[in-house]
Amino acid sequence: GMPIIYVVTPTYRRPEMIAELTRLGQTLTMVQRVHWIVAEDSSTCTSAITNLLQRLGLPYTHLATPMPDIYRKERYVPRGVSNRRAALAWVKENGDDNGVLFFLDDDNAIDIRLFDEMRSTDKVSMWPVGLIGDYTVSSPVVNDGKVVGFYDGWPAGRKFQVDMAGFAVGVAYLKKQKKVTMPYIAGHEEDGFLKSLNLSVKDIEVRADGCTTILVWHTRTAKNPSRLLKLDHHQNDNIKL
Ligand code: UDP
Ligand code: MN
Repeated sequence: GMPIIYVVTPTYRRPEMIAELTRLGQTLTMVQRVHWIVAEDSSTCTSAITNLLQRLGLPYTHLATPMPDIYRKERYVPRGVSNRRAALAWVKENGDDNGVLFFLDDDNAIDIRLFDEMRSTDKVSMWPVGLIGDYTVSSPVVNDGKVVGFYDGWPAGRKFQVDMAGFAVGVAYLKKQKKVTMPYIAGHEEDGFLKSLNLSVKDIEVRADGCTTILVWHTRTAKNPSRLLKLDHHQNDNIKL
């Protein structure tokens, strides 16, 4: 049958969390054969997320894996690594060999047509990401259907200059790799992960009409400064005043 897409969403407790996850989760209900892995940067599973997952009716896995304290103290904190690592371990252990892994941050915006693009991924597929960085788009550069470089506002010596939402990985290929990891290095999470997959640039499978179409955006939500929002409402499904 149709390959399952394992959508890995790292998240952490703050006033916007349930709003972000509600919007994203309801988008995912429009997609066939997705399994949503919500990976919390926390030592416990938040009940408001459990309730949301149950209401949505999607196949899901709910994990809680806090960031070690040493990384929280860094100048540039590597966000969402402990929880993405836990999700990776889950997929390596439980993922269907026919499936596909895709990282999707809780605050991003996605066109559901992107799932059709990534569903057939052998090793790693890639496409552009909009609304990101100084160039406003980050994308593989394609010539003759092959990736020949990257267009990205922050090269930083990276072999793979891509955003977390800019690629998908075949689960069978992932399982074959012996040293899969994601580094606790802010800005280098994607590059470090893709390098750990033993991937060559020539192996990248080009999607989204030769990387000419933007189907996912690195949107960010402004922090709401309201004093009321600083209260922890997440034990309830909604903010009940
Ligand atoms: N995140 C996390 N723990 C943190 C900060 C962020 O798990 O301490 C998650 C967050 O929910 C998001 C992803 O990691 O899904 C990336 O974080 P954010 O959107 O803040 O970073 P950006 O890439 O937009 O700068
Ligand atoms: Mn973000």
